[in-house]
Amino acid sequence: MAFNPDVKRKIVRDKKTDVHHPCLMCGAKHIRPDAAHIIDEKEWKSKDKKGNDSKFNGIPLCPNCHRVFDEVLRPRLYKALQDFGATGLPSKWERNNKISV
Ligand SMILES: [Zn+2]
Repeated sequence: MAFNPDVKRKIVRDKKTDVHHPCLMCGAKHIRPDAAHIIDEKEWKSKDKKGNDSKFNGIPLCPNCHRVFDEVLRPRLYKALQDFGATGLPSKWERNNKISV
């Protein structure tokens, strides 16, 4: 799912200059950067008192880095944090959240 348009704008655009932020991971400037959820939308909303999206749960990423974040980085972070003893981790981080062939 996607952020609502107002929240997405806050994540991907600089408020003062109205220019898109570069990708947070690789620094590339993209004509239409993604607003990637850090915590999956459904899981985030289940914890938010009002069930809302938040700009604090999103990062601007280019499409390539968005895929790497979702499919590779989050599961690796989950494993490392779990092995370190962290608890209460986002359940969706455990596995790749996309279906890859
Ligand atoms: Zn990138």
